Parts: sequence; C-alpha cells; structure tokens
Amino acid sequence: MSKHVTAPALAVDVRELLQQPGAHKHVVLRAALPDLATPVASVPAGSPVTVDAELESVVEGLLVTGKLGATVALRCVRCLRDVEHELEVDVRELFALEPRDDEDEGYAVLANDRLSLDTMVRDALVLAFPAFPLCRPDCAGICPECGADRNAFDCGHGAPGVTDPRWAALASLRRELEEEHVARPEA
Ligand SMILES: [Zn+2]
Ligand SMILES: [Zn+2]
Repeated sequence: MSKHVTAPALAVDVRELLQQPGAHKHVVLRAALPDLATPVASVPAGSPVTVDAELESVVEGLLVTGKLGATVALRCVRCLRDVEHELEVDVRELFALEPRDDEDEGYAVLANDRLSLDTMVRDALVLAFPAFPLCRPDCAGICPECGADRNAFDCGHGAPGVTDPRWAALASLRRELEEEHVARPEA
C-alpha cells in the first residue's frame, strides 16, 4: 500500500456477495478520479467517471463486468485544437480473494471486504485514451511554413509536394537523375 492512502473513490461493500458464491450485484458508481492524463488526453479534474457493472461472486473472488464512461479532453495532434470526446470502455476483470505476491499483477478484494474499482478504472481508461487524437479524421493541421490553421483558411502554401520536405527530397533526387541522364545520353 504505497501511493493510494486516501479512501477509494469508487468502492463497494461486497461482504454479502462474498458469503454467497454465485450471487450477483449490479452497481452504478460515479466519482471523480485524480490524475487521469496522458500528454494528449485527460479526464478534466473534477469531471466524474461512471461505472455501470455487474459483480459476480465466483470461487476465486469477484468478477466485474461492465462499462466505464468518461468525458475526455483531447488535443488534436495535427492542429493542437482541444476537443471533447465521450469515451466508453468495456471491462471484465477478476478481483482475487488471495492477496497476490506481485502488487502489479491483477486486482484484489480489499481486506475489509470492500471492493475498490479505482485502479481498474484508471488502467482501463488510460489504456483506451487515443495515442494520436484528431479533432476530425481529415484535419488539415497547421501550415509548417506560416503556422496558419489550414482548417480555418487556405494560406496559399498549400500544394503538398511543395511544402512537404519528403517530397522536396524526392524532387531534387529526380532532378539529379535527369541531369545525369542528360549528361550521359548513351546510358
Ligand atoms: Zn485538428
Ligand atoms: Zn502557410
């Protein structure tokens, strides 16, 4: 027990469930979790995460099956515009009764017969954050020459092949080959 000293935000009393293998319990929880963020995506501070899940008492522990929902603030990697996205993630995880040796492997029911869903929710949401968010699939991005937002207006530096350095390199290679060809017409 290192960093999470505070009480879990998404917790369920599961004492009765644990006493009846095979029993089910449906829970809907809603709370804010701090520090849900990657460099390009985050759940804004104070914005709640929802858990709608079925808890099932099984021999090894508790099986949690359901859906997570959160509003995620994304930054478009092409134009740097901020956009909001409703994220929905399916989860199915076993919370073991026996404490595991390796703290980082899997989840466990707390010793006081409480189930904390915080870590599972955090893991599942961050994993589902897009690595390269786009404000829209065809975002035109920012002009590398003048910095204009190409979605807003055409700055005139337009045609790909002129501005893209990869095409520029190919164009100069072609020029070289053509010159070589002219210099040695017999080749
Ligand atoms: Zn964009
Ligand atoms: Zn431009």
